[in-house]
Order: sequence, then structure tokens, then C-alpha cells
Amino acid sequence: MRRYLRRIAICLLLGTITTVAVAWGCAFLIDITTAATKVAGIKGLGGQDWVILRHDRGSAVRVRALAVSGLAGYEEIYPTDPSPLPAWGRLGAQLSEQRSGEPFTRAADAYGWPMLSMWCGFAWDTEHWPDALIVPPLSAITVAPRPGVAFESMSHRALPLRPIWPGFGLGVALYGLPWFGLLFGRSIARRWLRQHRGLCLACGYDLCGAAHERCPECGAVTLHLK
Ligand SMILES: [Zn+2]
Repeated sequence: MRRYLRRIAICLLLGTITTVAVAWGCAFLIDITTAATKVAGIKGLGGQDWVILRHDRGSAVRVRALAVSGLAGYEEIYPTDPSPLPAWGRLGAQLSEQRSGEPFTRAADAYGWPMLSMWCGFAWDTEHWPDALIVPPLSAITVAPRPGVAFESMSHRALPLRPIWPGFGLGVALYGLPWFGLLFGRSIARRWLRQHRGLCLACGYDLCGAAHERCPECGAVTLHLK
């Protein structure tokens, strides 16, 4: 029993590492600067109107929130229903906490496959462009910006550190399974076959259906035949 628990723990750990590696691979490799962009609006969040830009490539998503002075008359261009803010990224809380007049543009990225599994958030102080990137602690590891992109807020690249549920859990389970098969599948199948053929589980010696205390060949306990 303890052996099975240890095996499951090893596979969950490897599944976790693989989930993070896949999310970071998506963050580094997928170019979201050329992704299809959805535009929407939010009225009066934290006493401020916002234009929300969602750049979406499925396994890589960037959502940007730009403070604007008003959305009146633009409802067709910036629909406000349903809310364009994703469940991950804490953008809603950040926008509502942002004090009026703060020059920050907020953004959040999410990456992962088959579901988005990790996210990170940023802010740009638009009054101190271009050296104005603000990355909250324990949110992301920043890496070299994507080359050839004019806007810093779009060229910015980071490896996210925060999980998105249930995508992260699904990734751990999904990537843990092939690790289990790869590491332990052969020995489990061999053990199963030996048991069904009346062979010693340890060495494969044919016990001929006899109820030995121990295998005559290797000395292993053969209780499975009793
Ligand atoms: Zn044996």
C-alpha cells in the first residue's frame, strides 16, 4: 500500500512539473501579439470606465484594462455585458481598488494546455513610460521581451507562478497518468501476468500451483497462491 502511495506521489509531482513546464512553454513560445482581439467595456468599476482588450490564442491569453474617460455612446463598440473580465487574474479586484487618477494600465496573462493552468498579473505606470513595468511579488519570472513588437505592454513576456483552478489540477492528473504508465506500467503488468500464471511474483519461477511458504528459487514469500 505504501509503495502505491509513493508511486502516486511521484506521478503527482511529475505531473505538477510537467503542467508548469507546459504553461511556461506556452508563455515563452506562443506569440499573442498577433492573436485575435476582443474589445469590451466596463462602466464605473472603482469609479472609472475601462476598455478591456482580450488577446486569445486558446493556450495563451492576455487581458488588458485601459482606463478611459467615458464609454457613453460607444456601447456597440464596447459591449459591457457579459463582463469581459476572466475569473482568473484578479483584474476585477485590482480595477475596483485602483484609486481614481492612478496612471496604471493593468494586464493579466494566462497559459496552459489543455486548459489555462497558470496566470500572472502586471501593471504599467503610463506616466513613466517605458520603464514602468510593475510585477507583483511571486507573480511571475520576467524573461526577455518578444522581439520585434512595438508596444512594450504587448512585447512583455513572463513565466507565470500562480495556478488557475481547475485547469492546474486537470493538468497534474492528465500529465501524471502517462508518467505513471512510463515509470511503473511494465512492472505492474509483469506482476499481474505472473500472478495469473501461478509464477513467483519476484523472479517468475513456476510454482506449479503448489502452496509454498517461500519461492524455492529466490526465497520470496508466495502468499498470493494460498
Ligand atoms: Zn521467486
